[in-house]
Amino acid sequence: MTKGELKDLVEKEGVKFVRLQVTDINGMLKNVEIPVARLEESLSEGTMFDGSSIEGFARIDESDMLLKPDMDTFTVLPWTVEKGKVARFICDILTPEGNHFEGDPRYVLKKVINQLNEYGYEGYCGPEPEFFLLPRDEKSNPVLELVDDGGYFDLLPIDLGEETRKYIVEAFGDMRINVEASHHEVAPSQHEIDFEYDKLLRTADNIQTFKLVVKTVALLRGLHATFMPKPFANINGSGMHTHLSLFNNGENIFYDKNAERELSDELKYFIGGIIKHIKAITAIANPTINSYKRLVPGFEAPTNIAWSVSNRSALIRVPSTRGKGTRAELRSPDPTANPYLLLAVVFASGLEGIKNKIVPEEPVIENIYKLNEKEKVHRGIDNLPDSLEKSILALKEDKFIQQVLGKHIIRSFIAIKEQEILEYKTQVTDWEIKKYLKYF
Ligand code: GLU
Ligand code: MG
Ligand code: MG
Repeated sequence: MTKGELKDLVEKEGVKFVRLQVTDINGMLKNVEIPVARLEESLSEGTMFDGSSIEGFARIDESDMLLKPDMDTFTVLPWTVEKGKVARFICDILTPEGNHFEGDPRYVLKKVINQLNEYGYEGYCGPEPEFFLLPRDEKSNPVLELVDDGGYFDLLPIDLGEETRKYIVEAFGDMRINVEASHHEVAPSQHEIDFEYDKLLRTADNIQTFKLVVKTVALLRGLHATFMPKPFANINGSGMHTHLSLFNNGENIFYDKNAERELSDELKYFIGGIIKHIKAITAIANPTINSYKRLVPGFEAPTNIAWSVSNRSALIRVPSTRGKGTRAELRSPDPTANPYLLLAVVFASGLEGIKNKIVPEEPVIENIYKLNEKEKVHRGIDNLPDSLEKSILALKEDKFIQQVLGKHIIRSFIAIKEQEILEYKTQVTDWEIKKYLKYF
C-alpha cells in the first residue's frame, strides 16, 4: 500500500486513533496510541519511544528508539468501531540513526526470510494455536475452572465457547485474516482456531493479532482466554502446531511425485536440519517453565525427537496431503513462543538442513509413546529437553541458533530465562506441601 492510498483509507474509515504495536523478546505485544493527526509524521520519520522500558530491548544509555509503522499491517480494531475507530500498525524498530535494531524480533525473522529468498525460497506457515476460555470472578480475575464439558469437535449446548469463537472468527474476518477452521479442542473449555497459511512475516504478525483478538473478545464477553500451555495438570495442554512449507517459483519443493511417498529430498533435509537443532529450538518454542508441564507423555504433545508420516505421537508429522499442500507439522511449539523468533530459528535450521543435505533417521510408523527406552535408543530416537533449564543449556551450546538470533537477543533472552528458572527453583509448591508436610 502506498502512503497516498493509506491516507485515503484512514480518512474513508474515519479512524480517530492509531496504535503502534511491537513485540518484546518475551513475545508480549506492546503498543503506544497516537492521534490520527500524528500518523503522517510517524510514517515518514517514525515515532520515538524509550526502548529501555521494554523487556529485553535496550540499556538505559541507548534507549532512544523509533517505531516505524509497516504500512501493510494497517487494520481497524473491530471492537472500537462504535466508540471512535482505532486502527493499528505493526512496527519495525529503528535506532535514531535509522538502522534496524538488532534486538527487534521482527528483524530477526526478516533476516531469515532474506536468506531463504537468496536461495530462491519462500517460506510459508500455518499455525494452530489452542487456548482455554475461563470464567472471571466479580473482580474480573480469571478463575481456574472449566466452563464446559466439551471435547473434540463438540457443539452447543456442550460447547459454551461456541458463541465466543464465532465472535472471534468474525473479528478476524473484519481484519482480513481468513480463518480456515475453528473447533472445540479435546480438553473441556479448550478451543482451536486455525487461520490460513501465509508467508512467514505475515503469519508471525497474525499470531500476535490472533492472541490480542481472542483475549479482547473473551474479555468483552466476561471470559478470560489463556494461552498458558498447561493450566490444568491432568488434561491436555495448549500447543501451537506449526505447519511448514517451502516454495520455489510457485512450486512446493516438499512435493516430488516420483519419490517414495511423494516426499522430496528437500523435505527430508529440512526435517533433518530442524531435528539437528531441536534442543536449542525448544528454548524458543517452549520458553516458559509451564511449557514443560505440557511436554509429557499421554496428552498428545511430543516428548521424543522423531518424525513420522501421519502418526501424531511424533515431534514432526507429515500430513497426508500432497501436491501444493505438502508440508511438515512441527508439534512441539506452544503459544507462549515469540512467533518471530520461532519461525526464524525453525526456517533457518530447515534451510541449513537443505544446504548441508542433513539426512534424518527413518520416519517412525508406530505410536512412539509405546516404544520402550531400548527400542528408542536402537532407532536413534532422543528425548526433547524436559525442562526450561535443559533447553536453555542446549541453546547455550548451539552456536548456529545463537547466530540466527544475534548477540543482542541471545544475551537478553538467556538472562531473562535464567532469572525465571532461579525464581521457580526457590519456590515451595503446593504439591510439595501436600506430599511431604504431613509425612516427614
Ligand atoms: N493439545 C495438544 C497439544 O498439547 C494437541 C492436540 C491436537 O492434536 O490438536 O499439543
Ligand atoms: Mg489441536
Ligand atoms: Mg495439528
